[in-house]
Amino acid sequence: MDAKIRLYVEHPLGSGQSVPLDRAQAHYLFGVMRQGVGGAVLLFNGTDGEWRAEIVEAGKRGGVLQCNVQTKPLQMPPDLWLCFAPIKKARTDFIVEKATEMGAARIVAVQTEYTNSGRFQCDRLQAHAVEAAEQCGGTYVPEVVEMEKFARVMEGWDPARRIMFCDEALVTSASSLLSGEAVGTWAIFIGPEGGFSERERAKLNSLEHSVAVSLGPRILRADTAAVAAMTVWQQKFGDWT
Ligand code: SAM
Repeated sequence: MDAKIRLYVEHPLGSGQSVPLDRAQAHYLFGVMRQGVGGAVLLFNGTDGEWRAEIVEAGKRGGVLQCNVQTKPLQMPPDLWLCFAPIKKARTDFIVEKATEMGAARIVAVQTEYTNSGRFQCDRLQAHAVEAAEQCGGTYVPEVVEMEKFARVMEGWDPARRIMFCDEALVTSASSLLSGEAVGTWAIFIGPEGGFSERERAKLNSLEHSVAVSLGPRILRADTAAVAAMTVWQQKFGDWT
């Protein structure tokens, strides 16, 4: 039987490797998905590619899988970070999910002056990224980084990483997106519902390693802007071709 279920595990994977399941995974696999001994599952752990594994033990509180064949090598995304100001819960979930599907290497939450969201639930959002990777066939899970203030993020910034600054103030200008720019390590910056403050815009515009771009003649919601910016970047520099 072909394996259809994909599961992320925090365990090494390799030929003949036994992989223990925790209670939640066992509940999902045996309780929800009705799998049993002899069933096949696809496993990935973010470093060893994807493996087909067979269920060799199934219980209520755990189970064991055994890897037999590698079905995909590790496919790293391009070195692109998505830096965004968290917004409302459902829209932040959407951004993390789409960034994972579209091939972000790292997801960075930035607290800007107009960021207007409650606590940033890093662990919950990391689990959301894992689910997105399970669903989209990815073999890599981007790290979701704890929220940091804009000034702190800027202080520690490596200038070798170029910034694609999505600037809603350029909404009326016809910009040729990223023209003259080269492939390399990049980060996309997306502001919150209230946009970037003047101070933040001035900072981003003052950096030699930052390029301000327009995403067209309409103001997009932050979650739409994140998807649009990743599409543009991936199309030009990424792993879509
Ligand atoms: N300041 C705007 C306002 O309140 O009218 C809205 C900000 S927009 C909802 C959120 C973020 O999406 C912006 O900070 C920017 O990074 C990005 N964005 C939205 N539309 C854009 C556009 N047309 N060009 C570039 N960036 C855009």
